Amino acid sequence: MNDRDVEVLILGCGAAGLAAAAEAASLGARVLVLEKNSEPALKIRISGGGRCNLTTTLGPSEAEPLFGREGGRFLRSALRRTSSRTIRAWVEEQGVPTVVEDFGKVFPASGKAEDVARALVARAREAGAGIRLRTRALAVEKIGSPMGPGPRWRVLTAADECLRARTLILAVGGCSYPKTGTVGEGFSWLRSLGVGLVEPHPALAPLEAEGLSPLAGITLKECEAQIRGPSGKILLRRRRPLLFTHRGLSGPAAMDLCSCLERALGSRRVVIDLCPGVPEDVLLTTLFRKGGDAARTLQRELDLPLRLVRHLLEIHGLPGKPLPQFRKEERRGLCRILKRWDPGVRKSLGFTKAESTGGGVRLEEVDPETMELLRFPGLHVTGELLDVDGPIGGFSFWIAFATGAAAGRGAALSLRG
Ligand SMILES: Cc1cc2nc3c(=O)[nH]c(=O)nc-3n(C[C@H](O)[C@H](O)[C@H](O)COP(=O)(O)OP(=O)(O)OC[C@H]3O[C@@H](n4cnc5c(N)ncnc54)[C@H](O)[C@@H]3O)c2cc1C
Repeated sequence: MNDRDVEVLILGCGAAGLAAAAEAASLGARVLVLEKNSEPALKIRISGGGRCNLTTTLGPSEAEPLFGREGGRFLRSALRRTSSRTIRAWVEEQGVPTVVEDFGKVFPASGKAEDVARALVARAREAGAGIRLRTRALAVEKIGSPMGPGPRWRVLTAADECLRARTLILAVGGCSYPKTGTVGEGFSWLRSLGVGLVEPHPALAPLEAEGLSPLAGITLKECEAQIRGPSGKILLRRRRPLLFTHRGLSGPAAMDLCSCLERALGSRRVVIDLCPGVPEDVLLTTLFRKGGDAARTLQRELDLPLRLVRHLLEIHGLPGKPLPQFRKEERRGLCRILKRWDPGVRKSLGFTKAESTGGGVRLEEVDPETMELLRFPGLHVTGELLDVDGPIGGFSFWIAFATGAAAGRGAALSLRG
């Protein structure tokens, strides 16, 4: 190999790229990371509202179902090798203690995402990885023979430089929050190579709905947000806080539904169960015995905000008369709204507001132990490029760190033959 040849070339110095770099370099590989931005790990620095929810306290087997059946199975090995405990140890060993908050979310004790970014960059550099900033990769090409000893991949940079590598790890992220530099370039390269992709779509974005602005500012702590398919079957349910905004729905419950909704836009609906602990038939038999103004009764009995209840009665043309005076069809209508309210969501607010990317490289094309593409020896894909995403709570970073580390390990071990 000549001076421009690298053993392991990593494109993107974000969460997955840093994990891959540290792992490959610590196993003795010569590693170079190229990053288009002038600082590494920009998304880590802005994550978690500037506090970085870097992982969770859940163990791999508890977390696995949260990535869906296929995603969970694909990630099984990577999550076990890079557990949430391992991730905490990475930053703690660099002098950044962590703390646990509600829902098992792990943050740096300092409350500064910057500290996590600095720790992960230091860890990769200490392992021996080189990081080159302000270097945008433009194109990726396959060269040489997959079985031969020399470089197998060539990368052209925006500075007209050509770098060759035995092993190439793509860690350029997806399309979410494009202003941070992730504009989907990785997907274009993979598409032109002929790699199978599930169309990338926004994940963990707020949801858009018209007509909810009168409810802006209301938070529901105890509702269940659901995605239902064309037959009404529940495909995903989330019992987490839901926030009404001027543009629609936000908060963890809404954002967790985003990927499932966007994956088959047009054929799936968002439905809200406003009293998830109470079956519809129980509501029907108990609620309508309570006298007094309908809105206030519902507020009191179901612990719902008065503004929400009044809005629901009004838009559904239900009377304000006392509940015992509701006619049979009015009773059924009210129960249906309380248990299966369709707030009119059709899509999310899109990639500009999305914290993650759904879709991406089809999992059946990837070796789950090494993240190497089965049809492209020496090419590994990580993080948001893969067709797997998880809920709010440190799970996106876990995917990126675990798949990045798996790729780094796989790349380094393959060099040893
Ligand atoms: C506002 C916000 C808050 C978030 N908060 C959290 C949180 O608290 N917890 C959590 O788990 N997840 C959070 N996420 C999600 C998490 O940040 C991402 O899922 C994770 O960073 C993805 O890792 P990645 O390595 O795949 O991509 P990234 O971390 O996005 O890294 C990709 C890197 O590649 C670089 N790059 C792109 N194209 C090129 C190119 N052509 N050449 C060279 N370099 C390139 C980019 O500049 C970037 O540095 C948040 C996301 C956002 C947007």
